[in-house]
Amino acid sequence: MEYQKPLCECSEELLVLDNVHSNNYRITKDGKVSKRKIGKPAKEGWGNELFCENCGNVYALDEDEQKRVVRGEIQREGF
Ligand SMILES: [Zn+2]
Repeated sequence: MEYQKPLCECSEELLVLDNVHSNNYRITKDGKVSKRKIGKPAKEGWGNELFCENCGNVYALDEDEQKRVVRGEIQREGF
């Protein structure tokens, strides 16, 4: 099955939320977490949540059987 990046309910692409370093990471078209950071530089590692820049919804970060990032349960409603 072809991979599709996880989308928010508002149809915006989700970012990987890094709670430790306050950074967000994009997801590549292969379903991997991009090394490119948004915002200030940080050390290694990322969180386990997906974040919508548009509406602020937060979802659990899940992986499919090929270890690709997919959207999990909603954790927090947005703004
Ligand atoms: Zn959204």
